[in-house]
Amino acid sequence: MHNNAASTKDDRNDMRILLVEDDRALGEGIRTALKPEGYTVDWLQDGASALHALSHESFELAILDLGLPRMDGLEVLKRLRASANPIPVLVLTARDATSDRIAGLDAGADDYLVKPFDVAELKARLRALLRRSFNRPEPTLEYRGILLDPVNQQVSYQGAPINLPRKEFVLLHELIAQPGRVLTRDRLQQVLYGWDEEVESNALEVHIHHLRKKFFPELIRTVRGVGYLVDKC
Ligand code: CA
Repeated sequence: MHNNAASTKDDRNDMRILLVEDDRALGEGIRTALKPEGYTVDWLQDGASALHALSHESFELAILDLGLPRMDGLEVLKRLRASANPIPVLVLTARDATSDRIAGLDAGADDYLVKPFDVAELKARLRALLRRSFNRPEPTLEYRGILLDPVNQQVSYQGAPINLPRKEFVLLHELIAQPGRVLTRDRLQQVLYGWDEEVESNALEVHIHHLRKKFFPELIRTVRGVGYLVDKC
């Protein structure tokens, strides 16, 4: 096992993120989802306060909704960049607002997500943005013949490439990044589905079953009534 997943995780504990979202349910959901990742999330609900906070305090990253009261997100972003503030900004846009998206990128957004989005997708984008901003490569994970490259999202087993659907990839990543640690069903379900998706009660089992089949049966151990783990090598 050659990776520094543990130290990456520790570094993340100090990551302070500003979330700017006026939809209370969505804002609450994002904050809840990011908490177990070790991010500290400060949440504001209008553009003017966001610009003030970004100008006076220090954050590693901002998640910025475009449709906001008191100053829209695009204006916040323009003023931020006009003041040469280089903070990475992930813009949230409504489903069909293609022009918003383009305007956002033109105004200096680093990435965007279209609502509604998967919490796993949001986490992946955040990791990518933070990695880019710290210029710190996310290491390829190695576990019993499995190589998982989080940056290029590629997996191989005993040298042969394995094509995994997105959710199986995320699940495998979560498990082999923390060998020896039991991951609860709730946690894994949140990683896979976020807070706003109807989940079939056996969906997680189905993904686990597929992973065991694609790699080897002993890869993932069931801890009855609790969750799953991969053993320490
Ligand atoms: Ca909004």
